[in-house]
Amino acid sequence: MTIIEPHIHMYSRTTDDYQAMYRAGIRACVEPSFWLGQDRRYAGTFFDYFNLILNFETTRARRFGIDHYCAVAYNPKEAENRPLVDEVLAGMGEYLDHPRCVALGEIGFNNLTDNEEYACRRQLEIAAGRNLPVIIHLPHFHKPEGIRRTMKVIREAGFPEDRIYLDHNTEDTMDQARDTGCWLGLTVYPISKLTPQRVSHIVRTCGPDRLIVSGSADWGISDPLSLVKVVDFLKRDGHDEQTIHKLVFANAMAFYSRSPRWKPEFDIQPLDPREFQR
Ligand SMILES: [Zn+2]
Repeated sequence: MTIIEPHIHMYSRTTDDYQAMYRAGIRACVEPSFWLGQDRRYAGTFFDYFNLILNFETTRARRFGIDHYCAVAYNPKEAENRPLVDEVLAGMGEYLDHPRCVALGEIGFNNLTDNEEYACRRQLEIAAGRNLPVIIHLPHFHKPEGIRRTMKVIREAGFPEDRIYLDHNTEDTMDQARDTGCWLGLTVYPISKLTPQRVSHIVRTCGPDRLIVSGSADWGISDPLSLVKVVDFLKRDGHDEQTIHKLVFANAMAFYSRSPRWKPEFDIQPLDPREFQR
């Protein structure tokens, strides 16, 4: 089965991970911009990071047979530094216009503050001006309030909901989330976030339409093969092939196709490691 990993931070992963992902059938991925583990102090650090994921990481992935795209944004965890937000947003255009950038993201709320709302609102305006789809990160705490406030900002901005991938849903947000026109992300983690069992239950309750499953692996305890484990579990748990295909391929394909730059190649041949020097 060909799989698209729609949300993964390969910046923090190893070449072993790329090889394992390829062996397991993952052929394309999207890397949203994230928090690096420590707050950045300079706008230039953001720009170098955008440059790295858009260029070096895409080249690295290709050597292992995976077509790698990005989403560029100022993440919510660093939004309290408003002068830095303004400086980065003023210079972010060239990275959003890069051929490998297929969305703006991830943006949204972390601690539900006014500064986070400011950064989110401004970036929705930027995405609307560039006709880019948007990846929104729901906060990991106070989820029902988080989704309420997120939807309020989206609706006040008048941003089209079918161009939004609202990620990190749980059982607590699904009722509210299904009342929107957004694509709904479920993130599977080994310890925190969802398990394959919980995904299976949500899919059985809600159906697979508009649901996008990701592993969202980063430098924490996470798993670049989460999606593969979800596929195996859903098969054993009695979900049909068509349902699984929507969750790990077709829905992500439909969402990212809102960007004309999203043209994933699923037949890239991995290089012999002796052929690349760096
Ligand atoms: Zn993420």
